[in-house]
Amino acid sequence: MWPFKKHTDDLSRLDVAILFVTSRCNARCSTCFYWRELNNEEGVMTLDEIRRLSASLPRFTHLLLSGGEPTLRDDIADIVAVFARNNAIATADMPTNGLLPQRTVDFAGRVLTENPNLRLTIGLSLDGLAETHDALRGVPGCFDKLFETARLLNDLRARAAAAGQDWDRRLALAVVTCLNDRNFGEYPRLIDYVRAHADVDQMVFEPLRGQKKDAALRPPSPEAVREAARLSLQNNRALIAKRNKDEMGIRLANLEVLHETQARYLETGRLPLTCMAGRRVAVVEHNAALQLCELLDPVANLRDFDFDFKAAWNCRAAVRQRRWIEKTPCSCGHCVIVGHSLGDDPVLRRAIEEKAACYSREE
Ligand code: SF4
Ligand code: SF4
Repeated sequence: MWPFKKHTDDLSRLDVAILFVTSRCNARCSTCFYWRELNNEEGVMTLDEIRRLSASLPRFTHLLLSGGEPTLRDDIADIVAVFARNNAIATADMPTNGLLPQRTVDFAGRVLTENPNLRLTIGLSLDGLAETHDALRGVPGCFDKLFETARLLNDLRARAAAAGQDWDRRLALAVVTCLNDRNFGEYPRLIDYVRAHADVDQMVFEPLRGQKKDAALRPPSPEAVREAARLSLQNNRALIAKRNKDEMGIRLANLEVLHETQARYLETGRLPLTCMAGRRVAVVEHNAALQLCELLDPVANLRDFDFDFKAAWNCRAAVRQRRWIEKTPCSCGHCVIVGHSLGDDPVLRRAIEEKAACYSREE
């Protein structure tokens, strides 16, 4: 029997909105799952349309800015302010390829100044040591730029702390690695390099996913994911202890269960849970197309629904795709969406709770 009786959704469970703010990108990554849509701004949403989208959404917790390279959009800080005001988001995450250090720092400074209750995470996308990273990203010098971005963000945080601001708690730097068959061998050295050259709060990885640009690139093996997870847990224990010790248990437990779930998916081709895409998570592309998941076809365009999000969310195509996700059951290793589905599975939720208690006791 399917776990849900109806396939419309009242939006009350929405946790995460993934918003593609632009299709423009200044990198050419081999790992990119969005490469076919890049650098085509036809129909890109205006700030006013984004305001209307936000006004038709209920409260939710996390805004994840995506693209393209989000910092290429001039009004990116205004977009965050819209969701902080209308939807009372608690956190905003922005991944960046790090090619525009000053724009990233200006964005972080504005967001933290203008939204005093918001936590902001800047996710630096780092796919290997210098040679590997620059080759995978298709831009010479990309590695050095990324570390310059990290340094400027560290300086910003230090200046804010000296001025008595609480940005130590509200600004987080994460390093996010897309793990694949070309870079997993140097993951241990990458961890050491980051620890020596930047002050980051989290360093995580995501196994390669989607229809990437370089068809020859392969995801890591399940064994490689388990080994990377072991190193990642060790590393993140030290990183989280610096500023977020009170969150240690739950964060490590979530990471451990997520990576084991991804390894099992790579082993069997099936996720051991029902994906909550289209229930916990919504995706809106730069051109106002609504998706239940980044890896599936859009179900509607919000412009056809006059930016009435709820009407688009429950249109016939959305109901059909939600049913398909549950029935298939659809499977992949998507960190954000699968990560936000773990807590809805009773077995995995219990595993997270037990591990969180263990990790907390060890501290
Ligand atoms: S992965 Fe990100 S940074 Fe790289 S080409 Fe795609 S959108 Fe640009
Ligand atoms: S399992 Fe993966 S591809 Fe399927 S809906 Fe969920 S996130 Fe999308």
